Amino acid sequence: MADQVLVKKLARKLLLDWANLPNPPDGDNLKWIRLRHPDVFSFIANDDEGLKRLVERVGYCLRQAWKDSDPLRRDWFLFTARQEYMYGMLGTLPAVTRDGRRGWDVARKLILGVPPRTAFDVAVFYAQSRLAHKMRYCQNKDCNTRYFLQRKKNQKYCSVKCTEPTLLRSKRDWWNAHRGKGASPKDHNENQSI
Ligand SMILES: [Zn+2]
Repeated sequence: MADQVLVKKLARKLLLDWANLPNPPDGDNLKWIRLRHPDVFSFIANDDEGLKRLVERVGYCLRQAWKDSDPLRRDWFLFTARQEYMYGMLGTLPAVTRDGRRGWDVARKLILGVPPRTAFDVAVFYAQSRLAHKMRYCQNKDCNTRYFLQRKKNQKYCSVKCTEPTLLRSKRDWWNAHRGKGASPKDHNENQSI
C-alpha cells in the first residue's frame, strides 16, 4: 500500500513537471527537472544533448496525451512516451553509440522484449491505468501549467486564478448586454465551473 502511495505521488509530480516544462526547454529547465527527478535521469545525467533530446521527445508524447480527449489515442501517446524513454536508454548503450548497425541489432532485440522496469515506466503505467481520465488542458492561454489533473467534474481550468480572465470577460459582456435595462451587475450569477 505504501508503495502504491509513493508511485502515485511520483507519477503525478514527474508527469506534471515534464509536460509543463517550457518547450523547447533551455539549460536551466533541463537542470531543474534532472535535479528534481535524479532517478529518472541518472542514466543520461552527463550527456546534455541526449538529455535535451529525451526531454523533448518524451515531453511531446506526454503533451499529446494530455491534449487528446480520446481515451484510445491518449493511451497510445502514453505508451509512446514509455517507448521514447526506452529508446533514450538504449541510445546510451556502448554498443549502440559505437557501432550504428550492430547497435541497432542490439536495440531491436531489447525493444522486442519487455524492457527493464524503471521509475519512469512505472509512473506512466500508473498514469495509463489511473490518471488518464483526469488529464486536462487548462483553457487559460496565459497559464504556465496548462497540463493538469482534474479534481472535479467538468473542470476546465487548472486553478481558480486561471478562471479570472474568463469571469471578468463574462461579467463585462453581460453588463454591456444588460446595461440600461434596470439590471445590476449583481444580478449576473456566474455559474462557472473551474
Ligand atoms: Zn491554468
